[in-house]
Amino acid sequence: MKLLLFIVFTFVILQCQGKPLDHSSNGYQRTMEDIKKEIAGYSEIAKEIINLAVHGKAQNRSYERLGDFVDTIGPRLSGSRNLELAIQYMYKALKEDGLENVHLEPAKIPHWERGEEWAKMVEPRNHSIAILGLGGSIATPPEDITAEVLVVTSFDELRRKSQDAHGKIVVFNQPYTNYKETVKYRTRGAVEAAKLGAKASLIKSITQFSINSPHTGAQSYEPGVPKIPTACISVEDAELMARMSSRGTRIVVTLRMGAKTYPDADSFNTVAEIIGSKYPEQVVLISGHLDSWDVGQGAMDDGGGVFISWEALSLIKELGLRPKRTLRLVLWTAEEQGGIGAEQYYQQHEANISNVDLVMESDDGTFMPTGLAFTGSAKARNIMKEIMKLLKPINITNVFENGGGRDIENWIENGIPGASLSNDISKYFWFHHSQGDTLTVQDPVEMNLCAAIWTVVSYVVADLEEKLPV
Ligand SMILES: [Zn+2]
Repeated sequence: MKLLLFIVFTFVILQCQGKPLDHSSNGYQRTMEDIKKEIAGYSEIAKEIINLAVHGKAQNRSYERLGDFVDTIGPRLSGSRNLELAIQYMYKALKEDGLENVHLEPAKIPHWERGEEWAKMVEPRNHSIAILGLGGSIATPPEDITAEVLVVTSFDELRRKSQDAHGKIVVFNQPYTNYKETVKYRTRGAVEAAKLGAKASLIKSITQFSINSPHTGAQSYEPGVPKIPTACISVEDAELMARMSSRGTRIVVTLRMGAKTYPDADSFNTVAEIIGSKYPEQVVLISGHLDSWDVGQGAMDDGGGVFISWEALSLIKELGLRPKRTLRLVLWTAEEQGGIGAEQYYQQHEANISNVDLVMESDDGTFMPTGLAFTGSAKARNIMKEIMKLLKPINITNVFENGGGRDIENWIENGIPGASLSNDISKYFWFHHSQGDTLTVQDPVEMNLCAAIWTVVSYVVADLEEKLPV
């Protein structure tokens, strides 16, 4: 009897000791101190992840996998055969990696092809102008467009010169401040020029650095405004024409664009998981976009994001870890056309939004990482700061504001915490959407570090006893 009492007593004591971690079910609110302790308990696991990713046998793997992928498939424009091949390639690779629940989720995506395109200056002298038609642009008529050029540096200047725009090819030679501010000339240049009767618009590429490289990207027409052909030109040619026109020289350009828009195509978001051990219905989503523009290799945008996200699941599996929640890899389709695949994914899954713990996307480069960008409540931010302390061995522990990404913004706007990878983007726009976006700009050591951060963060959040507070 004494022995039995002793056993019961011991059991009760042990239960009580366990209480601080046994949360909401009994109304106990865990303090930040409890959570800090829980997170600090991951320091050995974090070291194992870092060692495997950065120093161990997995080092350079995300880079090598990316190289095989982009060298085999090439660029992957929405609606193209290459994008289909890319999805098949990844489906097979994720299966072969032994990941769980590998599957494809259907999405309808735009299908536009640039066709033959060129531009040349015919007055005051013959000069070939490198161009890249912008996404969704219409073609030039069969006789091409030959017209005098009007150079402007801003929408304001265009409006001031509205009398001169009719029948011209408007060249935008806007200064580059930053991408977010400057990109409006690419997205709206055709519409603003067409409102004043221009025949076409040529836009200085949205980059601070150029070796005669045009950079493509999305643009949109506006209902009620005539559609005109639109393309990006190099910084050099935009500035050349600006200098000529400031001297009063008349410039005439001939433009040919064979672009075509086809009916929407069938595509897929590609999904793989490590299913959670305790709360399998709850999800930490980690992602990048599989499509790219139709130039270069899309190695940087967004091959890097895709391959460090896959690497996170590979590393976790290789270490024999299984988080409490499901870690779900999603490789989005048709991001470049405006987050089209991700939008449909959101509609298909938003009913389960309360089960989504954190959404992560890497789509701003995988250069030298500087930390994590995070959007969420103050308490969740404090938790992310504790988690980032686990990255002390590689000395990258910052948590910045404004985590997000085109493909995860729906979730974030509806209250789900969101994170993106912060890295040194000083050269990102040199290559962005251009022939220069190839594996050559990626660095294996930097990708190892990115993968280590991405893995530690996704694993620890997925394994914490509680979801991040919203
Ligand atoms: Zn991207």
